[in-house]
Amino acid sequence: MRVFLTFDAEHPDRPHCPPWATEQILHVLRGSNVRATFFLQGRWVEAYPHLAREIALTGHRIGNHSFYHARLELLSDEGLATDVTGAEQVIKSVTGADPRPWFRCPWGECGNDARVLQALTDLGYRHIGWHVEAGEWEIARTPREIENAVVEGALGTGDGAIILLHTWPASVPPALPAIIRRLGDAGVQFATLDDLADPSIAVAARGPAGNDSSVMKGRGHP
Ligand SMILES: [Zn+2]
Repeated sequence: MRVFLTFDAEHPDRPHCPPWATEQILHVLRGSNVRATFFLQGRWVEAYPHLAREIALTGHRIGNHSFYHARLELLSDEGLATDVTGAEQVIKSVTGADPRPWFRCPWGECGNDARVLQALTDLGYRHIGWHVEAGEWEIARTPREIENAVVEGALGTGDGAIILLHTWPASVPPALPAIIRRLGDAGVQFATLDDLADPSIAVAARGPAGNDSSVMKGRGHP
């Protein structure tokens, strides 16, 4: 059974988000020899080029998470293309990695918008949602809460489960070792999105689960 750990790297707007969280996540993944996929916001890459480079240098797959983290469905065709390619250019110039074809829409909300999805296709991308999330971006979850949500969600989803986490909440790094250990004990292999043997697995992933977009809209998912 394969599980895809994915992390969104972006500017946080919550108080429980120390700047050291991203480095600790990379440290845990490196120590466990686990590769993941990181969706980078272009503006974040400009602010933290050393972290973006370290993500690439440590063997993780990089995807595009837009430049401004705007709601793509509200942008014009031209504005959307400018935002996506702007992120792509800064990601390439800073990390040397080409994020195509992996893209995650800000807020995960473009999964049902035909115009946005077609625009992404035209730009060489496909939107990747998720099957499992821990809600750690919203409030300060405990590491144990994150661990249980991810482990139970992944095992409940089965092969190809895509996990959404974020690089900035303080409780993500201390949750990771137990997540990796418990899923490893269950026979899970951690993969990056490039390891997808059947791309249809990712197409099926839409976030957020249950289309709970009203909550995300109201509270400002970063
Ligand atoms: Zn995001």
